[in-house]
Amino acid sequence: MAKTRKAARPRRASAAPAGKTGRTAGRGATRVKRPTTKGARKAAPARRAKAPGQYVYLFGRKTDGNGSMKPLLGGKGANLAEMCRIGLPVPPGFTITTEVCTHYYAHTRTYPPTLRAQVQAGIAAIERQTRKAFGDLGNPLLLSVRSGARDSMPGMMDTILNLGLNDETVDALARKTGNARFAWDCYRRFVQMYGDVVLGVQKRPGEDHDPFEMVIEALEHERYHRHIEDTALTVEDLQELVARFKALVRDRAGLEFPAQPWDQLMGAVGAVFGSWMNDRAIVYRRKYNIPSEWGTAVNVQAMVYGNSGDASGSGVAFTRNPANGVKEFYGEFLMNAQGEDVVAGVRTPEPVAELRKHLPAAYHELERIRGVLERHFKDVQDFEFTIEDGVVYMLQTRNGKRTAMAALKFSMDMHREGLIDWKTAVMRNPADQLDQLLAPVFDTADVDRADVIATGLPAGPGAASGRIYLNAERAVIAAEKGERVLLVRVETSPEDLRGMIAADGILTARGGVSSHAALVARQMGKVCVCGASGVEVDYQARTASVQGRTYAEGDWLSIDGTAGRVFAGAVKTAPSEIVAGLIEGDERARRTEKFKSFQQLMTWCGSVSRMQVRTNADTPEQARNAIAFGATGIGLCRTEHMFFEGDRIDAMREMILAEDLEARKAALAKLLPYQRDDFAGIFRALEGHPATIRFLDPPLHEFLPHTPEQQADLAGKLGVPVETIQSRVHQLHEVNPMLGFRGCRLGIGYPEISAMQARAVFEAAAIVQKEGVKVRPEIMIPLVGFKRELDLQVDVVHQVARVVQAEQKVTLSYMVGTMIEVPRGALTADEIAQTAEFFSFGTNDLTQTALGMSRDDSGSFLPTYAELEIVARNPFATLDQTGVGQLVRIAVEKGRATKPDLKLGICGEHGGDPASIVFFEQVGLDYVSCSPYRVPVARLAAAQAALSIPSGD
Ligand code: PEP
Ligand code: MG
Repeated sequence: MAKTRKAARPRRASAAPAGKTGRTAGRGATRVKRPTTKGARKAAPARRAKAPGQYVYLFGRKTDGNGSMKPLLGGKGANLAEMCRIGLPVPPGFTITTEVCTHYYAHTRTYPPTLRAQVQAGIAAIERQTRKAFGDLGNPLLLSVRSGARDSMPGMMDTILNLGLNDETVDALARKTGNARFAWDCYRRFVQMYGDVVLGVQKRPGEDHDPFEMVIEALEHERYHRHIEDTALTVEDLQELVARFKALVRDRAGLEFPAQPWDQLMGAVGAVFGSWMNDRAIVYRRKYNIPSEWGTAVNVQAMVYGNSGDASGSGVAFTRNPANGVKEFYGEFLMNAQGEDVVAGVRTPEPVAELRKHLPAAYHELERIRGVLERHFKDVQDFEFTIEDGVVYMLQTRNGKRTAMAALKFSMDMHREGLIDWKTAVMRNPADQLDQLLAPVFDTADVDRADVIATGLPAGPGAASGRIYLNAERAVIAAEKGERVLLVRVETSPEDLRGMIAADGILTARGGVSSHAALVARQMGKVCVCGASGVEVDYQARTASVQGRTYAEGDWLSIDGTAGRVFAGAVKTAPSEIVAGLIEGDERARRTEKFKSFQQLMTWCGSVSRMQVRTNADTPEQARNAIAFGATGIGLCRTEHMFFEGDRIDAMREMILAEDLEARKAALAKLLPYQRDDFAGIFRALEGHPATIRFLDPPLHEFLPHTPEQQADLAGKLGVPVETIQSRVHQLHEVNPMLGFRGCRLGIGYPEISAMQARAVFEAAAIVQKEGVKVRPEIMIPLVGFKRELDLQVDVVHQVARVVQAEQKVTLSYMVGTMIEVPRGALTADEIAQTAEFFSFGTNDLTQTALGMSRDDSGSFLPTYAELEIVARNPFATLDQTGVGQLVRIAVEKGRATKPDLKLGICGEHGGDPASIVFFEQVGLDYVSCSPYRVPVARLAAAQAALSIPSGD
């Protein structure tokens, strides 16, 4: 039972709306007077910037802040202010700024000296507007205290409600509302929340249940001999619970529960600031790259009560459907209930459209507000509301987290509706989420055969099959072992975050569209089905039972997060409509709205981008796919990959192991036809787009036969004793191969290798050009740090080009350039540019060599570096702009000083990373190059970078 109750009260995703107190009607609960639109507009002073020394910003009748002040007021505070400014009904309150959070951590968890007086003035302002008084024994003001960071961090930090209650004010509240049960339920909830969040009375290691829940359970069993609903607890029960909770606090925290409202308030404020550094918040920040310096704000607001009778209720809604993007009023509510009940599954919430039946006037008011919000914010809003005795109050609004599919539809629809222009529509699609649209869906034939065992809400679109795990830790361990994982829970809570990140999909038995699972899945782009009530989860037995069948941890299930279906076993997946339409030319897929919208978005991107997007491709098929996605050529063809196919590796090994030039040339002659065919295929696939072909780069040891079996096999094939092979392998051994005999050093040591590669390129070019296809080879020499290295290789290339053109009686147009991927190359780019016709930044090696950090071994220490915030992000995924970025800038400036029209690109992994792409736009590169399936992401990111950076910057 404790399990059920705990699951029913997760730390909620979006902090519980104010107005979450007892469950019983509080007849006559004092209502905050609704500000009239006119009054609010009049009262709002002109928009202003931050005032020095001002730590408290009011909202309500007088509003100090506005929606643009998120860095200072946090997202919640800024938007509460903005809602006040546009005349929406918001209970009055104030925001303590994020600067106080920064001060708090910089000054051994203390506050600026003037804060206290400013908070007192803030309380006085709320008192004037509500005509209640904090701590008053006649008409006590109760407050909610909620965190609010610049970017919303759902459920990561703490919230305290009903603050201001003590043994005296509870009686006053009971008298004033005429409802003792309501007052005592508020008090019970307050002591519980405050005890947990502020005084740290929580589950200890080894304990399975929340200690407060254990107290409730014990009382229920003592008095009723069974579990009863919270609503059935009497005033006397609640009074007893308050007493026992206080005893629990005394026992566990070693102190008396604070009775003074002011002490309660300052404790709560400290707890919210303290929660900025809790484990959940740290994990979340790391996942979403939120810097810890941002800090959180604290919002203190008058409570309103959604549980004050049959004309009251609470809900969470989106102005449009955040899962699939459909324009519908989307959300859920509970009559006569607290906001936390809506997400907690204590009762099943109703779809928001049903509110029309219960409270038509309130419903129409919400519809009106829905329109106002979209017209004002020009984006889909996710908002919380409370209805108190028929009057609607807004407790929060923010841009709704959305899936990539919803983002695409929102942007297209809002553009069509004239709410946003096309450039804004481009900006509304998060580039780093776009690949969700390319993710596979279930194979139609296989899914038709599959057994649907349960249905739930389609909370995160896509298809996922995996082995089920019922606990986040075990899910993480399984994922680390390489298993595909479905996290199955009754409901998720922020403690499950690591498991959710590790899982391919999330399935919950309870919870609605605004549940934690749905919210997080939307944000992460995870496939998710929630509220699949047919699934019975037994944490003890580690099983999930559906329709009489029991699935143990490790068994396979599949979920369709687009349709909300759960299947037994694994189901095959198929390409998304976009991939099917573009790559496979599937006509049915091309007619879907998803496909058409995607194409429209890409067309817009194409018309605004300055940088081109190329691809890293080594085969004709990869090149064709990338071109279908809109790539404008190959930015990196790693020729060495071609040597691993079929039995080419034997010729390659023969070449490497050759002891003299003669033998090496003989082996190279075997490789030439392979390379020529490969290049011809690529040129044909490119249909006139340029191809940057990089000459052999990796350390030779990567090609060597290392195991005795491989060595014996090769010895047999070459007809030499195995000892010969062994001794050559031994000779070629390097202590530090990544800094060894690799890159252009190979071509300099063995010019015949470069000559063979050049011949393969030019012969292929001649063949394809004769077929009538335009060919634009760009030969790229890797790992150049000295101009002379490049000179020597360029000579070889030109020499071969002359010979092949004469032999083939063709004139070929080609370029020879270099990679900039070692610091010396960047620093001497002016010299290198005298020879190079283009540069392509190899930011993988440039990062490795600039940081002195092995790209292959950094996995062992980078996670610690991230944890300790030594690096904000993995520098091999997102360019280290302050360090490596300087080398890129220097090379760009020096290279272009020598050759103003020097073509510049990037082909390291960072070429597909949206954050790095902004930097490449800033420094003025001509193109980025990334893997084929990343091309749409890079195109969108390049367009957004061009839109957000004024040209020439
Ligand atoms: C690079 O170093 O960034 C690069 C693209 O080359 P590779 O990854 O093949 O070393
Ligand atoms: Mg490299």
